[in-house]
Amino acid sequence: MESLTLNARIVAPTRPIRRFRSPLINPLRLKRPSKDLSFMTTAASIPQAKASIGLHFNNTCPSKEVLEGWRNADAVCFDVDSTVCLDEGIDELAEFCGAGQAVAEWTSRAMSGSVPFEEALAARLSIFNPSLSTVCEFLEKRPPRISPGIDQLIKKLKAKGTNVYLVSGGFRQMIQPVALHLGIPVQNIFANQLLFGSSGEFVGFDKNEPTSRSGGKAVAVQHIKEVHKYEAVVMVGDGQTDLEARKPGGANLFICYAGVQLREAVATKADWLVFDFQDLIKTLE
Ligand SMILES: [Mg+2]
Repeated sequence: MESLTLNARIVAPTRPIRRFRSPLINPLRLKRPSKDLSFMTTAASIPQAKASIGLHFNNTCPSKEVLEGWRNADAVCFDVDSTVCLDEGIDELAEFCGAGQAVAEWTSRAMSGSVPFEEALAARLSIFNPSLSTVCEFLEKRPPRISPGIDQLIKKLKAKGTNVYLVSGGFRQMIQPVALHLGIPVQNIFANQLLFGSSGEFVGFDKNEPTSRSGGKAVAVQHIKEVHKYEAVVMVGDGQTDLEARKPGGANLFICYAGVQLREAVATKADWLVFDFQDLIKTLE
């Protein structure tokens, strides 16, 4: 089994982290403990992390070709967990359901590529069987936390006419509020779907979604590229499944975002390794 020690949690942003509320949620029930609303991270800063860890990589400065590829992309596909958002959605949901540790271990193995994605997804969900009411309550009480700079980056991309997609192994139910917040149309979400029975009980996930399987993000990116006849697509993410999306017919470039999680095996193979979305924003100005 592949070592899990590569998945070092290295940094957390030094700026205040924004949580936002889905407008689909009853605003009368939005009161939360003030400690959550004033949440700020205290871990090492991004520049410190770069100094101590990023220097081991030779891909933190993009080549001219990579920079041009990024600037001229027809579309950018973003991973969600630990990229657009600070957390792994399924881990957060599991923790909310009291099964945090067992599920986080499975997530880590899935992200390092040592377990088929579909197997890890089914195993994790079967540990805590989230009902529809639990998911709704979770979204009310633990709304997604957005990574610093992602709003600005997506605004910049949209302003220059670049199409933006969210391609995730997470769940549509949890990603839609994020897409809404970022102004990304729901049809630009490629993700998994939790399935519930008539009483709202958990019955599984939609196995027809390509993102429910290993290599599924690559299939989703290929589909996006083909349908829209894009010449160049860039994938931005932190995990093995994001890296896999860079292939002939799929993403032309893979940018590893290590501002939340640094997965060494993924980072070394990226066309460009960034620790801060500002690095991408300034290249578009
Ligand atoms: Mg991720």
